[in-house]
Amino acid sequence: MNKPVLFYSTNKNAPLLTFDEAMLKGQAPDRGLYMPEIIPSISPDMISKMKNMEYHEIADLVIGKFLINVIEDYELASMTKDAYNYEVPLEHVYGRKYVMRLDRGPTASFKDFAGRMMGRLMNHYLQKRNQKLLILTATSGDTGSAIANAFYGFNNINVVVLFPNNEVTARQRKQMTTLGKNITIVGLDTKFDDCQALVKKAFSDPELDYLQLSSANSINIGRLIPQAVYYFYAYAKLSQSVMEEKIIFSVPSGNFGNMMGGILAMKMGLPVEKFIIATNENDEFPVFLNRGKYQKIEPSKNCISSAMNVGHPSNLARLVDIYGGKMDEKGKIHVKPKMNKMLQDLHSVSISDKETENTIKTAWNKYNLLLEPHGAVGWRGLELFMKEFPSFDNQNLLCVSLETAHPAKFPEKIREILDFDPDLPPSLEGLDDIKENFVKLNNNYNDFKKFLLKNYG
Ligand SMILES: *Cc1c(COP(=O)(O)O)cnc(C)c1O
Repeated sequence: MNKPVLFYSTNKNAPLLTFDEAMLKGQAPDRGLYMPEIIPSISPDMISKMKNMEYHEIADLVIGKFLINVIEDYELASMTKDAYNYEVPLEHVYGRKYVMRLDRGPTASFKDFAGRMMGRLMNHYLQKRNQKLLILTATSGDTGSAIANAFYGFNNINVVVLFPNNEVTARQRKQMTTLGKNITIVGLDTKFDDCQALVKKAFSDPELDYLQLSSANSINIGRLIPQAVYYFYAYAKLSQSVMEEKIIFSVPSGNFGNMMGGILAMKMGLPVEKFIIATNENDEFPVFLNRGKYQKIEPSKNCISSAMNVGHPSNLARLVDIYGGKMDEKGKIHVKPKMNKMLQDLHSVSISDKETENTIKTAWNKYNLLLEPHGAVGWRGLELFMKEFPSFDNQNLLCVSLETAHPAKFPEKIREILDFDPDLPPSLEGLDDIKENFVKLNNNYNDFKKFLLKNYG
């Protein structure tokens, strides 16, 4: 009963590890992704109790299920309390349709939820072992600032963030380049996928082993688990009869870390009717789900929901694994997942940029609902789902669409479409006055490697 949960690699060719070991490793040595061998469950009674709990208490409960025997209860409780010190609004739209705003953390992105928890957990285990770590991460916008902020100032961790110069907004960039200390930011004149490829190559380079590299990308199991929490939170707070009614979530998706958090929550016992996986024009997953054939999009398409410009979701191997299949790190499917079961649980739809812009406009005019491009993809996904399946088009059916960034992170877009400037959340104020500092590199692995060896070797 009290045995620690063990984690295996989706490539099935690496030793089982406990949570702390798997998190510090990031990617498994066989290049697979870590998954819990047994998914712990949360009882209906416990879900009912969450109705009266604070967010950080729910986080303590859900995350704690995976950390049995690898952390003291009081240590985890203090970390969740410290990490989740901001609001998680459930904004009513109409009927029983809601938008969950995951944008009130310090970088105004849902990635704060995972980053802040993983930062604290990693720091905890590194201090205990007297070890140092160099975190390499690629960002298409929000990961970088969330990770940089989550790890800022920790003594045992250095962070290097790679970003594509032309795919992040000035405000997103400034959230990373104004930090300094243990945080180094690198800009490249290329696409996000190339940045991610450089990071992946560094991880598999034996000559860099001694730098103690680790990943903070959404492939890290330490980021995945905290993302199961807000699904429990939304359901517990909004459900009128716990466990008797089911919920539909719509998740704007890129690398699929967010939706995998939801899948974990469902496997732990949350009564989910359907996950709507809404992508932008990078439609490799909706095509796969609907036609059964998987093909990456290379290079990925540059859409206005820039944090979702992903032509091959790095967490897809986990989804395939959970449905009984096997996909390697290159995206090749060795064992096909159970497509029927997947289709039962998931619905996936691609939303064009034009539709995204229209949605920002109509949501505002119709419901006074302020969305930014990522959240608009999610909301439109929900609308289209109800249109396509009228049996689900029911005011009384509980549906929650996730808003993953604060509209003020995309002021140019909002101004262009709605003709006003969204109010800045306190966390984004004052950025314009701080000096930026970042390194420029070419999209060349040898240059990147030299840079790492020179600064951290
Ligand atoms: C990262 C990000 C996403 C995509 O999340 P995944 O977990 O990669 O699917 C969506 N919206 C925003 C604002 C993001 O930063």
